[in-house]
Amino acid sequence: MSGVAGRFAPTPSGKMHLGNVLCCLLAWLSARSQGGKVILRVEDLDPERSGPAFERQIEDDLRWLGLDWDEGGLEAENGSYCQSNRAGVYEAYFARLKSRGLVYPCFCSRAELHAADAPHLSDGRYLYPGTCRGLTPEETAARMKKRRPAWRVKAPDETIAFTDLHYGPYTENLAAECGDFVIRRADGVFAYQLATAVDDALMGVTEVVRGRDLIGSTARQIWLQKELGLPSPVYGHIPLLTDADGRRLSKRDGDLELQKLRQRWRPEEIIGMLAAAAGLLPAYRPATAAELIPGFSWEKVRREDIRLPGWIK
Ligand code: GLU
Repeated sequence: MSGVAGRFAPTPSGKMHLGNVLCCLLAWLSARSQGGKVILRVEDLDPERSGPAFERQIEDDLRWLGLDWDEGGLEAENGSYCQSNRAGVYEAYFARLKSRGLVYPCFCSRAELHAADAPHLSDGRYLYPGTCRGLTPEETAARMKKRRPAWRVKAPDETIAFTDLHYGPYTENLAAECGDFVIRRADGVFAYQLATAVDDALMGVTEVVRGRDLIGSTARQIWLQKELGLPSPVYGHIPLLTDADGRRLSKRDGDLELQKLRQRWRPEEIIGMLAAAAGLLPAYRPATAAELIPGFSWEKVRREDIRLPGWIK
């Protein structure tokens, strides 16, 4: 195997829909076409939203689709690829950030955050106004007695640049475009940004392929890896999938859940349909994932939203 390692990183909080399938397909093809391995990490950080029953279903769906993995999953190595079992690892990295003064406790409640006239960026993202950043040690101690804080990174005025595998050069200024972001919630659960940045590095992932909706997280994750002395993978973001009318898919589109589609279609029909919609095949034909490996290239994958054909239901 080459040194390339791709990954699937599903959040087992629901059933897989076609957007998740497309993401796994492209991550798998990109890694396999370079002779690389695939790791399955279970992003079950939030115990209230995710659970092993969904993860089992996702693993069964991936196998059914012919998207295999070499490492990880629910049962592997005593669950050490499940984020819910890795709090101790995140704790150690969190402590490093804390000892370097890069994080601070935030006592703002959700209601306060909503009430504050916080600036919003043009894409709807919210910038924390820094309310708790300047608290004195006495103020912090007094608040600690009343409420468990969340923890935020002091976003520096630093511009992170990376070259996306699919969209090319991308830059983001952390202070101006992300603001002070949460890496640990008030209930103690570590946030996605920290867990994912740490896990991609420690698990030896060299290539992250995921939905374009997450491109805005990439600068934060690269910055965290840099500050923690960890390597960064390369990132490739993929277009969003829409229905035949151009509307974004969401979990509400129950019809496009893989579980339902599995009752009517064979895996080659679903893979071939997604490959044609994404630009990997000139026209629809049934195809296995393995058959698509030799012809895969990022050049062929569309950059604009990917529209599903009307017949897939
Ligand atoms: N767990 C995330 C999801 O299922 C993906 C995170 C990532 O790829 O970094 O949407």
